[in-house]
Amino acid sequence: MNTFNEYDYDAMPEQIADIYKAKHKYESEHATPFDCCVCHKQVKQFGNNALPIKQGKCCNRCNEMFVIPVRAMIIRTKSDIAEMNQTK
Ligand SMILES: [Zn+2]
Repeated sequence: MNTFNEYDYDAMPEQIADIYKAKHKYESEHATPFDCCVCHKQVKQFGNNALPIKQGKCCNRCNEMFVIPVRAMIIRTKSDIAEMNQTK
């Protein structure tokens, strides 16, 4: 089980590192372990909605690496398409 140490706190600005540390500490004390539907690792976190990558609950790492960027890409693509349709 990996909750701490997946993040390189030293590489972050101190204020950001403090936010992550507090979040991870709280999760390690209160969350129920589950298997991430993306990477299949067991984590002790609250979990995140993995859509549109997968149906299910994913870990924080997969959420930050895959789910959020894909959501941003979809929003960007939709706004680009809307913009293209307006200029026609
Ligand atoms: Zn994961």
